[in-house]
Amino acid sequence: MSESTDTAWGVVNDIQRMCVNDGPGFRSTVFLKGCLLDCRWCHNPEGKRRFPEVIPYVSNCKVCGECLPACPTGALSTNGGGLPKISRALCSDCMQCAAACRHEALVVWGRVMSADDVLSEVMKDKAFYKTSGGGLTVSGGEPMAQPAFVAALMRGAKADPDPNERIHTALDTCGHAAWADYERVLDFVDLVLLDIKHMDPSAHKAYTGRDNTLILDNARKMAARGMKMRLRVPVIPKVNDTEANFTATARFAAELGEAVTGLDLLPYHPYAGGKYRAFGMEYEFPAGEGYDDEMLTPIINLFLDYVPEVTVGG
Ligand code: SF4
Ligand code: SF4
Repeated sequence: MSESTDTAWGVVNDIQRMCVNDGPGFRSTVFLKGCLLDCRWCHNPEGKRRFPEVIPYVSNCKVCGECLPACPTGALSTNGGGLPKISRALCSDCMQCAAACRHEALVVWGRVMSADDVLSEVMKDKAFYKTSGGGLTVSGGEPMAQPAFVAALMRGAKADPDPNERIHTALDTCGHAAWADYERVLDFVDLVLLDIKHMDPSAHKAYTGRDNTLILDNARKMAARGMKMRLRVPVIPKVNDTEANFTATARFAAELGEAVTGLDLLPYHPYAGGKYRAFGMEYEFPAGEGYDDEMLTPIINLFLDYVPEVTVGG
């Protein structure tokens, strides 16, 4: 699939309607497949790869073995307990194993959709967007792994000749994409939800695979072009939850000035480990406990000295 022009096709993992945590009002959030970082605490491993794929959902597996003959490449085998596992090196993403399983234990994640079909789905709730100030949020994975498709979606949401019929748009991004790709998109975006995961470049690289130079540069460029932003700060035990890091993050938010309308804290959830187990995957991140209100209150107060509004959970 070429990304050289604004393609009207992309790989969509899910479209969720009536979301209230991905921007103002009621929203439809379109989750695209693919990611540009590799966060060790990732809660959504099904969003990482760019193309449709089969992921075992071993919790549903009846250990019947009926899927094994369906695989033409030898990628599908079983572990010692008879549960399916897939060699990514051998898998051709043909999806035949998923078709052979009668128990929804081999699940296809991602489907190729046209921008028109996505927008038709999104526009079903247009009346709710109008009354609530909501609209379309494009998220991921990382949506900017498919920048041409994001541009097609955002442009489509703003295409009506009547300004009153255009819908509000938000882009939920990690910030780690080429500025040229953001420039293709931002003319059609009302709000950027921008992740700031760590202010220390070395720690950022250690925990996400990339340092934060490009992310912070893009944030400054967005602010300079007048883009409205909400910063999204994951709160991850023993990774970024120090006063020094949050103070640096808050100062950076203040540096961006009036572009930053608020900040959303996204506390780590221990449930991610269960999801990995259901997928038959190792969750290498040392799962800690979640955060309660008492632990989050000082963090909220710290940020409130620098930004106009702080929420927990987006
Ligand atoms: S994945 Fe499906 S077909 Fe394969 S062993 Fe499990 S239940 Fe049977
Ligand atoms: S998607 Fe195709 S190649 Fe991959 S494990 Fe399933 S049957 Fe085998």
